[in-house]
Formats: sequence, C-alpha cells, structure tokens
Amino acid sequence: MKDKRSLISVLSILAAAVLVAVIGRAWLALSVPGQVGTLSVTMLDVGNADCFLIRQDAHAMLIDGGGPDTAASVVQTLQNKGIDSLDLVVITHPHADHIGGLPAVFGAITVKQVLFQAVPDALTPDTPSYAALQAALRAIRDRTEIVDVTDGGTFSFGTAELTVFPVYGSYEELNDYSIVCRITHGLRSFLFMGDAEGAEEARLLESGEPLTADLLKVGHHGSRSSTGRAFLQKVSPSIALISCGENDYGHPHEQVLDALTSRRITILRSDRLGMVTVTSDGYSLQIEEAADAALPDAA
Ligand SMILES: [Zn+2]
Repeated sequence: MKDKRSLISVLSILAAAVLVAVIGRAWLALSVPGQVGTLSVTMLDVGNADCFLIRQDAHAMLIDGGGPDTAASVVQTLQNKGIDSLDLVVITHPHADHIGGLPAVFGAITVKQVLFQAVPDALTPDTPSYAALQAALRAIRDRTEIVDVTDGGTFSFGTAELTVFPVYGSYEELNDYSIVCRITHGLRSFLFMGDAEGAEEARLLESGEPLTADLLKVGHHGSRSSTGRAFLQKVSPSIALISCGENDYGHPHEQVLDALTSRRITILRSDRLGMVTVTSDGYSLQIEEAADAALPDAA
C-alpha cells in the first residue's frame, strides 16, 4: 500500500515536472527575442500597386505581385535576395496592380501554394492581366497547390502563422473581396488589407476576428475609401505601410495620412522611400533601408 502511494507521488512529481518543462518552453518561445527567429516584411517599390515579400528564416511568401510594368523588377528583386522558392503566394484580388507581375514570378520561381479568393462572376475582370494570370496558374497547377480561401484558413510559415479571414459579406466593389490576412510572429502581428474598403472593414469589425496589429499594410494605397477611424482604432498599429506611386486618384489621401499621423503611427510610403523592410525578432520591430523614415514627420 505504502509502495503504491509513493509510486503515485513519484508519478505526480514527474508529471508536474513535464508540465513545467512544456509550459516553460512555450513561454520561452513567446517571450524571448531570438527564439522565433526573424521575420521581415518588405514593401517593394512597384508604383501605385502592391507587392510584399515576407520572409521567416528560410521561408518566403509574396502578397500580390505588382502591376505588369514592374514584373521584371519584382522577379529581379526576388532573385537578388536569393529567393528561388516561395512557400506561399497570396493573390488578394484580381486587379492588374496586384496580379500583373505574378505570371513572371510563376515563370521564374517555384511556388508551393497559391491562395486566392473566389469573386462573383459579375465582378470578375475581363482584362489582359486577368487572362495572363489564369494562363500562368494553369501552367503551374501540376506542381503548385492552388487554394480557394473564401472560407478562411490558417497556414504555418516557419515560426510564424498566416491567418486568412473568411469573406463575411457580399459586396459591390471587387476591392472589398480582397483577401485580408494577418501574420503572427512571437508577440508581434502584421495585418495586410489588400485594397479592402470601408464595407469590408465594417464586416471584419463585426466578425470579431483578431484585427489588432503592430504593422498595418494600409488598404487601397492610402485611399480615403479605406482605413476608417473605427477600423484604425481597432487595429491600433505602430507602423503603417502605404504602397503608392504616381496616380490619378490622389492616393494617398490626406484624410488617411492625417488619421495615421494623429495617432502617432509611423508612416512608410513606397513613393517617398522606395523599397522598405521592417524586421521583427518576435518582440521588437526595426525599420531597415529607410533610416530617415523612422520619424512620423518624415511622411
Ligand atoms: Zn490596388
């Protein structure tokens, strides 16, 4: 009887020790800089278009590919950075300024998974860029998994994780069918809006999805159709990336810049800074290749 009792107490001590070790390791991974490696977010300089490269140690992901006019420079930039394979390519929505460069990327670089979101027939573009994208996807479909993320999804990306939010409404604008996704890495998070406008922002706010982020890729090139006050308050970023260039729409609009500035959010604009990279060790964020841009006043 006594032996049995001491065996039970030895087992409970062992169980407790294992539990402490497991919790301790998880806590360490979350709390100590360096434990989760480095994550970098690079805003490529593609004019009034979007192309973002995200790297986590040996893993690489592209969110959009810029327009057709910068396709060669996007491929060159990826190759200069030594990237010969992409874990993921996220196609936020099929406007030319987001998909135009992707056929060239697919032709030059191995892609494991492509994430896209189905859009209603009435909003499907009838453009050369869209036709070229469809042809490029057909050409790689034997070696690349092409995933419809209309219902959302979670994808591991090294020590980071990518969450794609489901489509929560039906919309009149193709922009509002943009994939909105959030990357978490250690204690830091990064929210990418594509060209989502106010209608999609409102649905996301209602959804209760986790929207807070340290870095916000501002929706729709800084257009006033996006980045509403309630949405910005919810996300509450410290850094805002605006991918913009010469355009006839007035992007980025003053209202958006004012809203960001009044919240003391550091604004990084590709038209002012060219290519910019923000890196994270899971704990602190650093701005690279844009030392002068660290002050909000610079924007
Ligand atoms: Zn766009």
